[in-house]
Amino acid sequence: ADKTTPPSDQAYLRIEDLTKRFGQFTALDRISLDINQGEFVCFLGPSGCGKTTLLRAIAGLDIQDEGRISMDGRDVSFSPPAARDFGIVFQSYALFPNLTVADNVSYGLVNQRWSRQNIRDRVAELLELVGLPEQGDKYPVQLSGGQQQRVALARALATSPGLLLLDEPLSALDARVRLRLREQIRELQRRLGVTTVMVTHDQEEALTMADRIVVMNHGVIEQVGTPADVYANPATAFVADFVGTMSFFEGKLAAPGQLTLAGINLACADDRGLTPGSRVTVGLRPEEVRVRNLDPDQPNTMQVRVDDLEYLGAFCRARLVTETGGAVILADFSANLMRDMAVSLNQTLTVSLPPESLHVFATP
Ligand code: ATP
Repeated sequence: ADKTTPPSDQAYLRIEDLTKRFGQFTALDRISLDINQGEFVCFLGPSGCGKTTLLRAIAGLDIQDEGRISMDGRDVSFSPPAARDFGIVFQSYALFPNLTVADNVSYGLVNQRWSRQNIRDRVAELLELVGLPEQGDKYPVQLSGGQQQRVALARALATSPGLLLLDEPLSALDARVRLRLREQIRELQRRLGVTTVMVTHDQEEALTMADRIVVMNHGVIEQVGTPADVYANPATAFVADFVGTMSFFEGKLAAPGQLTLAGINLACADDRGLTPGSRVTVGLRPEEVRVRNLDPDQPNTMQVRVDDLEYLGAFCRARLVTETGGAVILADFSANLMRDMAVSLNQTLTVSLPPESLHVFATP
């Protein structure tokens, strides 16, 4: 099935025309979004774009000014958090410091008046699930940050909620722990099949974890799509810039499929049907620049000078300057290519920019 266009009758979580204002400031501007059962969706965007506000509205921790939210076919727009059937994990672990790990995990179960034996079994099962068996008697301070976050996850999942909400759960952890916990969360989510929404400002986290990414900016959704789709076909210049690396050129559409950028004429495969004469911003991923096995009449071939080389392990990011117009092109060259072609600073290279790799956006 095509995950990017869920049939409307299947949405597990449905957000319709949601608007949230803080005084004069509009934090969410008529957001609509459908999330399917079992999906892992990331809200991705820069600080202040409204992603936490949207998560809090889903949880009922903030109430929207306009719009509706339904969960599993039930309108929860004005329901209190306790009536919404979700578990939540925050950035700071937010465990009760004076309670043991087991008591932290069982918190929601006690509220639901589970029997003592059932609680004991369920806590053991959950601690096993998050890889912390036999740790129930410890206190939060006796655990590492990553372990505390796994306890928070166990607590959020204790009542088997229909929805798991994660608010930057990894951003307080150090890099190695973060990478491992990414995998563990994703594995656990798949195993349980729990519909999950995670807020993050980290594009790599979103690309590696999400089934679909919701890219937000200034209180609106810029694009919704699979990681591969958002990366390969960014809908706007903002998405192109925020997800992955791109070099950008300003210019205009001279004729259908014909660009003039920094005094260079280039062919593009998709001009988005813009009117010739339109001002455009054109983006290019560094890995799309061709330098090897160039066909002499390949389109968009030009001379560039190697202005800078940044060594990044598996590959090298070159800063190339065009001989005409002085446009800057970033290009990623593999270690093999660097060696075979003996690429060096100030060298002149012939490169080609495939027409289908030029992403054309109307300049606002
Ligand atoms: P961050 O990653 O920094 O948390 P975010 O995308 O999650 O960013 P939000 O926390 O949703 O952003 O905030 C969106 C905007 O709404 C921000 O400009 C913020 O200042 C504003 N805002 C959020 N909560 C409140 C509040 N309670 N009162 C006033 N303004 C608020």
